Amino acid sequence: MIYLDNAATTVTDPEVVRSMLPYFTENFGNPSSIYSIGNDTKNAIAKARAQVAGLIGARPGEIYFTSGGTESNNWAVTGAVMALQKKPHIVVSAIEHLSVLNPCKMLEKMGCEVTYLPARSDGTISVETFASKLRPDTGFVSIMLANNEVGTIEPIRKLAEIVHEKGAIFHTDAVQAVGHIPVDVYDLGVDLLSGSAHKFGGPKGVGFLYVKEGIKLKKFMFGGHQQEGMRAGTENVPGIVGLGTAAEIAGRGLENRMGHIESLRNMLLNEIRNRIHGVQINGTMQGRLPGNINVSIPGIDAESLVIRLDRQDIFISTGAACSAGASRPSHVLKALGYNNDRLKGAIRISVSESNTIGEIEKVASVITDEVFKMYEASGAGYY
Ligand SMILES: *Cc1c(COP(=O)(O)O)cnc(C)c1O
Repeated sequence: MIYLDNAATTVTDPEVVRSMLPYFTENFGNPSSIYSIGNDTKNAIAKARAQVAGLIGARPGEIYFTSGGTESNNWAVTGAVMALQKKPHIVVSAIEHLSVLNPCKMLEKMGCEVTYLPARSDGTISVETFASKLRPDTGFVSIMLANNEVGTIEPIRKLAEIVHEKGAIFHTDAVQAVGHIPVDVYDLGVDLLSGSAHKFGGPKGVGFLYVKEGIKLKKFMFGGHQQEGMRAGTENVPGIVGLGTAAEIAGRGLENRMGHIESLRNMLLNEIRNRIHGVQINGTMQGRLPGNINVSIPGIDAESLVIRLDRQDIFISTGAACSAGASRPSHVLKALGYNNDRLKGAIRISVSESNTIGEIEKVASVITDEVFKMYEASGAGYY
């Protein structure tokens, strides 16, 4: 099989799996217990916290473990807003992940005003437009670091600076960025940052929220005293250990890996554009995740193409895994103002370092064959 949907999830790195295994068997103690086998797991959590902090330039005490990117985003949005004195005005981009947008919709029902900021057609947020949306009563802003569909990287440092001038709190969903491009919380100047293990070689169902020291946040889970009482519940020790290992691995040779992935990505993109006429690139190629391709192929139904490729054990996607399942046009591509044909023909391919040149060549030729078959069947005369 050829797997090219690494933005949806990644295979768990064998080194990550190995590091997790003892925490299912011999090291099963409850990290809150005071005897020695409890201490072993408590220490393992502390090590993972330091590994995650190390990857993003944070202090270990600023890292809270969660059940994944969705929880981190839910917590950041609701926790920061509910910690404010008054119901604030909220600004988010229209291309955020649903785990940011849907908590905002809930807060809207509870009486907060929310501005959904459109992105430009190249997938980037205009700093000027952004600044014009902030108001004296703006209390919370969330803009993603890298978009999960078009891979575009937003000017977070500048946006955070503007938000802080207004005295508001800035959160970034960095789930697609962590482990794939350099992420440093102090360079970015953010107050809150979300990450998820399974997007960069870790296990599913575990993630983290960076909470800058001094930032007020309501608790997310109510219960025991775990994680300073902020996120109660016995910790997912194997998952957290796996996340720590994945963070450690991701930090090694990141720049080299980015270069390699980018060259594979560009090779595939060029092959597709050379073979099929009229392919449109969605999102800018300047400032984009190294592994991301999002293109619209004219005159085809992307979902049918994905299914045709599936039959040949090639896995790509039409957009975000969650919205793809719902068979609705992507809210991201829609927010970029694309027409229906462009939405319908959009595919997302996300390359990893384990893909080979042979795979790239194979995929380019299978995509071309299938697209031409679809053209032939439709009789639309595209080719
Ligand atoms: C995958 C993803 C999430 C959700 O993370 P999970 O760990 O799958 O819940 C949030 N934001 C972005 C940008 C993502 O790509």
